[in-house]
Amino acid sequence: MQLTSHGAAQEVTGSQHLLQINGKKILLDCGLFQGRRKEAFDKNAMFGFDPEQIDAVVLSHAHIDHSGNIPTLVKKGFTGVVYCTEATQSLCNVMLLDSAYIQESDAEYMKRKHPDTALYPIEPLYTQEDAKLALKQFKGMSYDKTFEVCKGVQVTYREAGHVLGAAITVLDIHDEEDGKQKRLVFTGDLGRYRLPIIKDPYVVDKADYLLCESTYGNRTHGSAEEGIPALARVIKRTIKRGGKLIIPAFALERSQELLYSLHLLIHEGKIPNNLPIFLDSPLANAITDIFRKHVELYDKEIKANFKKHNPFTMRQLKQIANVEESKNLNHFIGPCIIISASGMCEAGRIRHHLKNNIEDPKNTIVIVGYMAENTLGRKLVEKVPAIKIFDKIYNIKSEIVILEAFSAHADMNDLDNYVKQIKGLKKVMLVHGEEDQQKPFKKRIEAFSNAEVKIMIPQVTIDL
Ligand SMILES: [Zn+2]
Ligand SMILES: [Zn+2]
Repeated sequence: MQLTSHGAAQEVTGSQHLLQINGKKILLDCGLFQGRRKEAFDKNAMFGFDPEQIDAVVLSHAHIDHSGNIPTLVKKGFTGVVYCTEATQSLCNVMLLDSAYIQESDAEYMKRKHPDTALYPIEPLYTQEDAKLALKQFKGMSYDKTFEVCKGVQVTYREAGHVLGAAITVLDIHDEEDGKQKRLVFTGDLGRYRLPIIKDPYVVDKADYLLCESTYGNRTHGSAEEGIPALARVIKRTIKRGGKLIIPAFALERSQELLYSLHLLIHEGKIPNNLPIFLDSPLANAITDIFRKHVELYDKEIKANFKKHNPFTMRQLKQIANVEESKNLNHFIGPCIIISASGMCEAGRIRHHLKNNIEDPKNTIVIVGYMAENTLGRKLVEKVPAIKIFDKIYNIKSEIVILEAFSAHADMNDLDNYVKQIKGLKKVMLVHGEEDQQKPFKKRIEAFSNAEVKIMIPQVTIDL
């Protein structure tokens, strides 16, 4: 049995891990690498393996850094099944089309701006047509039910507690080469305890090998509950100045959690009940509809809570559909909250809201999610004095607030606890993290367990 990471090795995005077993090739995730435009395009267009030879894809969740390159894989000859949970399948139906749309419009924009340069890719990585074809190969599976991916490889999806539909992938494998039974667990993105809406991560009690994410391998963020009062303080401060709050948020989960938190604050009288809240993202709106359908995936408390007051139908909320309405928000006078995507500010309507609001000291930009290296969002986190949006420089004068408690990722304590609960580990392979987060995490695991810990290096194969 062999494992090779072709993405999300010593970096966060582009999750792709190739498992070779019994003469078969199983790809765990096929995510999009996100970063500088040219580098991203090249990395995403080229695979480190032959897509035609992949037997199956086992997808952990719908986030684009895990699912977003499946259309390219299909375009380049992959004909097998993409396994995922049922909710992930519903989410990918809208998210991959949105991703294709972003790439089509991006390519068009580049064609207009740089008609005579070869510096920029001017063809989209894949089109909406490509995405539609790829989606036909998806197969939605239930949580907690074991299924066979290929001979000798049984897979069970368990709750990851990260976003709706996200799974921890448990692979029970009979290795024909040495005749041994082996269990490999892939955390996907590991969530947190007590996140609003979804259930807590499932604990796998025994495994031989753990392929573990390490986004926050060396950082803590307050408990999920601490985010809500912190959000209230920022909102009140901004209202006092007469400013607006701009919140870049992932369309999946974060937007819905924010609505839930705002709804709680209004209900408890912690923020004014006449503050308009705009959800300006067609994708977030479509995903919110999917949330409404998957009540079975909510945790118990929320189910009861939602019956009394549903945050997705609160009267303060206005879901913005078309571009005209979105543009009208530029002329909105007085305090309001604008939640918009994309989460890392690399695409979508959020860029318009940032450029229109970032130079006004009355306003606040609230960062509630992870920002990968070299993204516009990361520059905001680093509090640079000015940023470039659509080829124009804007001086940052608004307040920037980072609320890490809203993270959907396990922090270092959650990660340590998760690894400690798994008995019998021989090897832990770290992926989905940057070096400064991985090295200390590796050291800590080596101190509390007997497992060998490896930081996966891109394209380097290890034996299991
Ligand atoms: Zn994720
Ligand atoms: Zn991820």
